[in-house]
Amino acid sequence: MDKLRKIKKRLRKIDPQIQVSEKNGSVFLQGEEKDYRTIIQAGQAAVDKKHFLGVINDIKLAGFEEKTYEPALNDKELDGQSPDVLIIGGGISGTAIARELSKWKLNIMLLEKGPDIASGASKANGGVIHVGINFPKNSLKFKYNYLGNKMYSKLAENLEVPFQQKGQVMLCFHKWEKIPVWFLVKHAKKVAIPGVEFLNKEELKKHEPFIPQEAIGGMYMPSGGITSPFEMTLALGENAVQNGAKIYLNSIVKGMEVKDGTIISVLTNRGTIYPKLVINAAGVFADQIADMAADRTFTIHPRRGTDIVTDKKAGYMVSTSMAKAPFSILNYQKDKGKSSFFKTVHLLKEALSGKNHTKGVGLIHSVHQNMLIGPNAIETPYREDTSTYREEVDGIIAMQQHIAENLKRSDIIAYFTGVRAPTYEEDFVVRKGIFTSNIIEVAGIQSPGITAAPAIGVDVSRWAVDYLSLKQKVTPNGSFDPHRKRTPVLKDLSEEEREKYIKRNPDYGIIVCRCEEVSKGEIIDALSSPLKVATLDGIKQRLRPGMGRCQGGFCTPLVMQIIAEHEKIPLQDVKKSTPSSFLVTGLTKGETK
Ligand SMILES: Cc1cc2nc3c(=O)[nH]c(=O)nc-3n(C[C@H](O)[C@H](O)[C@H](O)COP(=O)(O)OP(=O)(O)OC[C@H]3O[C@@H](n4cnc5c(N)ncnc54)[C@H](O)[C@@H]3O)c2cc1C
Repeated sequence: MDKLRKIKKRLRKIDPQIQVSEKNGSVFLQGEEKDYRTIIQAGQAAVDKKHFLGVINDIKLAGFEEKTYEPALNDKELDGQSPDVLIIGGGISGTAIARELSKWKLNIMLLEKGPDIASGASKANGGVIHVGINFPKNSLKFKYNYLGNKMYSKLAENLEVPFQQKGQVMLCFHKWEKIPVWFLVKHAKKVAIPGVEFLNKEELKKHEPFIPQEAIGGMYMPSGGITSPFEMTLALGENAVQNGAKIYLNSIVKGMEVKDGTIISVLTNRGTIYPKLVINAAGVFADQIADMAADRTFTIHPRRGTDIVTDKKAGYMVSTSMAKAPFSILNYQKDKGKSSFFKTVHLLKEALSGKNHTKGVGLIHSVHQNMLIGPNAIETPYREDTSTYREEVDGIIAMQQHIAENLKRSDIIAYFTGVRAPTYEEDFVVRKGIFTSNIIEVAGIQSPGITAAPAIGVDVSRWAVDYLSLKQKVTPNGSFDPHRKRTPVLKDLSEEEREKYIKRNPDYGIIVCRCEEVSKGEIIDALSSPLKVATLDGIKQRLRPGMGRCQGGFCTPLVMQIIAEHEKIPLQDVKKSTPSSFLVTGLTKGETK
């Protein structure tokens, strides 16, 4: 029987010109389309998890060419090196794997093409540690979310990263919504997600005091949490480095030599590397890396998500991460509040099958006390389009004013956009190489990647050690230290503690960023860390100067000056982020230095 018959039939309806065949045990699509939506539709129609490993969708978009970021750096620093493990990608997946691997005496090298770690999705997301109620039980998303969620509290304690487990809330507005919630509570019990229950309005107010007037209550899920995703990625990376791993920024993988199912060498902008094992954790580029390694069975189709950031003054509107029940979101849009039981049953089925691709736009109380509103979910051919569009922001606000009744436009201080990396199967691809022996794929890591990363790290490092043990003796790293010391964050300390620090180092008494209360001493600490990035954005990501109400209007020149002095470089050599991102072009008014 032709396994492709049904898929071909479905695709003929979309466009009879699309060529369908089998490659690498996957459905292989080729052709050219004028409309990007047709390409996405074709990829979705080609999914057949029962008979194929995945969908390789190589249908071209007519006239489309994306120029993606490549570091300007070009040297021979890494030429000829032969690490035991080469990790491609310094997002939360890559750094979590590096840290786990550093529990072993191994030569670990991580390459990140961006100017800092977390240059991809790991810096631009909601930071929610998900409960995972909406993932199908047999999916990798469910498995790693479940295990990762359980690991977070200890991990955050060891790495001194902010983490608050205040739960997640799904708000209900209609009595009939209690029926699908009842099914979800039952489902939660079955899959061992703890403590999920329906709370009436008064009970829910203990967790969320500012729920809207019309809400009748909601589903409360106590195992949900919130972290700082950048800080977690940084801490995992710093701890890996402290335990012996090496991380190289501005370092991009450009190609591979593969012979008889083995990667022989990896070509980078810093020379050719000869790793024994490669781990592909390249986010939205993971399918390209898998292709270089002749191990591709999937396609990443980028999906943008924008979040709105409010002033801390508006942070009180939400205490957990809270969304409208997905059934009410669609109904509310469709018929302005009128209920529909049949629609609900359909949406509940979708929710439990994992087919709904975003957990719904919601409100999040960030660990920095701001409120995040979003994200939305927009398919895009651009892997690195982090622009923010006015219509989308307007759409997000229009939807949220319903649950954030007191939200005003003037509460908004910033927006950001991240790009998710879904496959057409809408599940993670975390597996050993199939067609190439010395690669491990960590791909399709869309949401809940922040939650899942620690657990993914455990499995991947175990497979890596198993693989390397076939060729060499791999022994535990006896001096592995799971702790990473967070440098003092003055604004979180009591008056007495602050005074103690300032007495020891007067630089802690010099406030550079007034909005976020960041001192000169903290900036110097960040410039002395094991993973320092001496750029304006490097400091901004680590300490938040420039992320407050004034968005850097006051502190930018001061931060630049501190970097210049500490690094002993002229002010005009201080960059925003990449080596070519100049902030100032030279001296004015007759200055000579
Ligand atoms: C808007 C939004 C909201 C989200 N909210 C949540 C949430 O609340 N909770 C949650 O759990 N998850 C959330 N997610 C998902 C989460 O952000 C991702 O799953 C996670 O960050 C993926 O991490 P990663 O390390 O796999 O990929 P990335 O963080 O994208 O890292 C991949 C890295 O590889 C590098 N790279 C790529 N190609 C190369 C190359 N050739 N050479 C060297 N380096 C390369 C990139 O520069 C990048 O830094 C959200 C995502 C988005 C976009």
